[in-house]
Amino acid sequence: MKRQNESLHVQPIIVPTSSSLQSFNFYLVASEGELLLVDSGIDSEKCWRYLHQTLQENGFSLKDIDKIVLTHSHQDHTGLVNRILDVHDIPVYAHKDAEPRLYRDQGYIQNRIAFFQQLYREMGCKENGDNRIIELKEKAKANESQALKTKINPLEGGDSVAGFDVIETPGHWPDHIVLCHQESGILFGGDHLVEHVSSNAMIEPDARGKRLRTLVQYEASLKKCRDYALNIVYPGHGAIIDNPAALIEKRLNGIDSKSEKIRKLISVLQPCTADEVARMFYEKAYNSEFSLVMSEIIGHLDRLETLEEIEKRKIENQWVYSMHTSRGEREAQMANKSSKSRD
Ligand SMILES: [Zn+2]
Repeated sequence: MKRQNESLHVQPIIVPTSSSLQSFNFYLVASEGELLLVDSGIDSEKCWRYLHQTLQENGFSLKDIDKIVLTHSHQDHTGLVNRILDVHDIPVYAHKDAEPRLYRDQGYIQNRIAFFQQLYREMGCKENGDNRIIELKEKAKANESQALKTKINPLEGGDSVAGFDVIETPGHWPDHIVLCHQESGILFGGDHLVEHVSSNAMIEPDARGKRLRTLVQYEASLKKCRDYALNIVYPGHGAIIDNPAALIEKRLNGIDSKSEKIRKLISVLQPCTADEVARMFYEKAYNSEFSLVMSEIIGHLDRLETLEEIEKRKIENQWVYSMHTSRGEREAQMANKSSKSRD
């Protein structure tokens, strides 16, 4: 691996984990005479060791890294940044909206907790919602030390870093970006596209505390990537993706078919809260993975609302979902017609 001009070399650092993520992947990239680190795994001795080993095997040391670029602000991608900066102070790049999250800004954290408190109340979640709020408060305290100790160089769509185009891909997380080298069709995908598992479009507030329609965003971000001629995607977890177009199609179809199942369930349960849909749709996972399950269900409810398949009303401070009126009428008319034609 050489740091020559006009050449691009990617050295994956794949750190296995026993969790369902399979591995934490980050990448040493020589591009346009610079050495980049794309993401940085979790803050563990194992990731630290793998980073050093990979540097050494390729004739580098930590001091040769010129820049760190983060695909998003999740801890399993930002883990080693502080350790690296302690030894070697280099610029760190991330999406501009990542700043309050990476700095663990107290105002941001408190607003986020208040957002979820209101969200779970409005979606009809009772003790599971309350427990999640307690968990969020505990996590906020426990993770204080993870705050990045450097100024972030803010990126946005259309920017370029070492020959890579920055593409905004909100959905899995609001500050998610991917890095695309158009000439070679190489994409650093973070958690936007993972081979062995579909990414959860996590429900989050925007900067003003308004709920983002994250699944709708995620679908649009998948379609955005479909427009690039991609040969290979280097993901944040699991296997390297050598047929990205097929995987993008699979993910888009998966969203469609899950939405359809949820729409059918609502047609039976209506009027119903998101919590009732989640309990019915996910059964066991509702308790064991409450926050992910609620994100998934609320994401699909948002999407179905956007498609005018369903609608919601607020009753006693809770959102109640039912089939979209015009849709219901259409279906009733069709049922009427077919029963008449059978007569
Ligand atoms: Zn991740």
